[in-house]
Amino acid sequence: MSASNPPLHPETLAVRAGRELSEFGEHSQGVFLSSSFTFGSAEEGARLFLGEQEGYTYSRFTNPTVSAFQNRLAALEGGERAIATASGMAAIQAVMLSNLQAGDHLLSSQSLFGSTLNLFAGTLSRFGIETSFVAPTDLAAWRAAIRPNTRILFVETPSNPLTEVADIAALAALAHAHGALLVVDNCFCSPALQQPLSLGADLVVHSATKFLDGHGRVLGGAVVGSDRLIEPIYLHVRTAGPSLSAFNAWVLLSGLETLFIRMDRQCATALQLAGWLAELPQVERVYYPGLASHPQHELAMRQQRQGGAVLSFVVKGGREAAWRVVDAIELISRTANLGDVKSTLTHPASTTHARVTPEARERAGIVEGLLRVAVGLEHVDDLKNDLLRGL
Ligand SMILES: *Cc1c(COP(=O)(O)O)cnc(C)c1O
Repeated sequence: MSASNPPLHPETLAVRAGRELSEFGEHSQGVFLSSSFTFGSAEEGARLFLGEQEGYTYSRFTNPTVSAFQNRLAALEGGERAIATASGMAAIQAVMLSNLQAGDHLLSSQSLFGSTLNLFAGTLSRFGIETSFVAPTDLAAWRAAIRPNTRILFVETPSNPLTEVADIAALAALAHAHGALLVVDNCFCSPALQQPLSLGADLVVHSATKFLDGHGRVLGGAVVGSDRLIEPIYLHVRTAGPSLSAFNAWVLLSGLETLFIRMDRQCATALQLAGWLAELPQVERVYYPGLASHPQHELAMRQQRQGGAVLSFVVKGGREAAWRVVDAIELISRTANLGDVKSTLTHPASTTHARVTPEARERAGIVEGLLRVAVGLEHVDDLKNDLLRGL
């Protein structure tokens, strides 16, 4: 591409960016299932290992298929560089272990994926890293919880399952005013809907397992950011070893090719479904950032291209009524996963948030009547009819 060409659009990058092609002229990205790579000479081997020459040595460090996935995701997030990991949790763990040390303070949203919460409150605290938790939408609480030793602010937006939307630009300004980094888990939006780096975030983490794959096939994760911030994370991953497999990278690359059209359709269906649920007398409340009734609707429409493919709603009648809906579905899948082309339905209070005490759950809004739908690619009328069976 010559310098005078206009920059390519994200939809184009999703299918074209970052391919690592061999001498064979393959049109589709090849999958390089090779744990190690040979050197042309002793001297070349030495240069490769010292990092003086770009190239491949060992797949815990880098692999052509993994590089292709990293480069494509970096292009989509508008970051200089990405490092891929074996799962989303491995990505979050790698960010923390390569940036924090005993005595440091982590400031995090309280509305977190369960394993992330356990990693922060459990594992990291055993190594002398303390975490404070605040409501993602309460900027004053974030500000009040900052300490001189706060190194990282961490947030998921929209949150799971209540779709609370945090102000990325405001949190980035707060972090930077105190010499800290803002890390955003962009799992729910994917770069098709939201680019946290362009809003001031320093690092984006992904569970590629969700919308990036999009078909519920493989585990994967990634961290995206500037070359300066990714380098130490890369050095940690290549040493500690939570590296992404070449095969999974290859699956994820094909997932990225359809990311934009999947997200467009899944968001459109989610918006229709949310509007329909909000009108039903059996439904007490709907949580969806794309609805004008959502408390952070304006912020969401400013920082996201669409409302997302995940919505939650409260049925009247508590757990009994909610479980009736879960048990009556015949089309939608009863599973806690999300980001799949097949829609899923979850009862958070008895599954993903079951370990939280009932009082804390109620306080956080995870009431017994709450249900979460991760909307896939089925026709909206089929989803409505399936939900109506138990409503
Ligand atoms: C699933 C998920 C993770 C963890 O990803 P894995 O690939 O399962 O390790 C992290 N954050 C969010 C928001 C998730 O939904």
